Amino acid sequence: MQKRVIYFDHAATTYVKPEVLDAMLPYFTQEYGNASSVYSIGRSNRKAIEDARETVAKCIGAMPNEIYFTGSGTEADNWAIKGAALAHRNKGKHIITSSIEHPAVLAPCEFLQKQGYDITYIPVDQDGLVNPADVDKAIRPDTILVTIMMANNEIGTIQPIKEIAQVCKKHGVLFHTDAVQAAGNIPIDVKDLGVDLLSVSGHKFYGPKGTGALYIRKGVKIESLIHGGHQERNRRAGTENVPGIVGFAKALELATQNLDAHYEKLYKLRERALEGIFEKIPHVRLNGHREKRLPGNLNVSFSFVEGESILLMLDMKGIKASSGSACTSGSLDPSHILLAIGLPHELAHGSLRLTFGESNTEEEVDYLVDCLAEIIDKLRRMSPLYEDFIKGEC
Ligand code: PLP
Repeated sequence: MQKRVIYFDHAATTYVKPEVLDAMLPYFTQEYGNASSVYSIGRSNRKAIEDARETVAKCIGAMPNEIYFTGSGTEADNWAIKGAALAHRNKGKHIITSSIEHPAVLAPCEFLQKQGYDITYIPVDQDGLVNPADVDKAIRPDTILVTIMMANNEIGTIQPIKEIAQVCKKHGVLFHTDAVQAAGNIPIDVKDLGVDLLSVSGHKFYGPKGTGALYIRKGVKIESLIHGGHQERNRRAGTENVPGIVGFAKALELATQNLDAHYEKLYKLRERALEGIFEKIPHVRLNGHREKRLPGNLNVSFSFVEGESILLMLDMKGIKASSGSACTSGSLDPSHILLAIGLPHELAHGSLRLTFGESNTEEEVDYLVDCLAEIIDKLRRMSPLYEDFIKGEC
């Protein structure tokens, strides 16, 4: 008998929705022509790409010619950051980011630092919020780009992107936001936000992996990173991943149409889990902002236990969760995000990220809470630190 799988790791990735897969399938087996070819199965692919571009543009309030398809959210972030750095290097070499960005932003910044760029990392408060006034203070005459994520992948905190964009606009500095975790979970309107560059990734909203897009506001200059053919209006070479592009657009369209119901459902599941955990388990802390957070994100730290042990024991009960972002798991270092919000190393090590999704149920959440209570109790009873703590209490 196949073991039941209860998936609470939607920030790591999501399954592909059947409607999305259905939209993609013909482009693998029937409509497989190259979009640059003139015959009919080429032209149908060109049309599919341009229709997808229009759909994506509509979903985020952009114009179709401001949307560029990429091979991932990571690629979109790299393009925005390195592309802006290269295009504006004659103006200056200073870039501002935050201390809680995803590696897809931090690593390109570190790369640029090695090339002689100067990077300022804005700290966040205990809830993981960036203060727009700190960005204002950090901007210098040689600042060329500010890149701050819309919503955090580990703690779910949503940043005041509109206010930060206004600060950047005031100084005439480009503003990029990594909206990979935000897209499909909260509304995105690039014009209302006032951003210049925005990255999204398909596999976070029930689309295929290896798909992404970068919004480049009309008139914004950034260099290309991938050179070759004339695809993506000469700005991103490589034969287009048509099934991926079609799936990406379909998934974003479905997510956008369903945003309110999705938000409400995930919010309710999150709150149910939060209440259950706090009711049944002592010595627990919520990480991230209480209200300004993604609806499906719950990040908690349990004192006296290791996150990895919790994950393994949850897995034995069929529950899939995360102790940090999927991309950095495998490393035993505590999360830079949890350290940046001021958690001591021990607490950062005892953290658990649960990210709820559309197929989750209240019954699954109740099962999770019961399992967690049992697991944390078991782990604490094996913990010398907890033993010392209890002795100290007596
Ligand atoms: N940015 C954030 C905030 C993410 O959470 C992720 C993936 O987890 C990425 C960027 C990278 O996106 P992709 O997996 O499409 O490369």
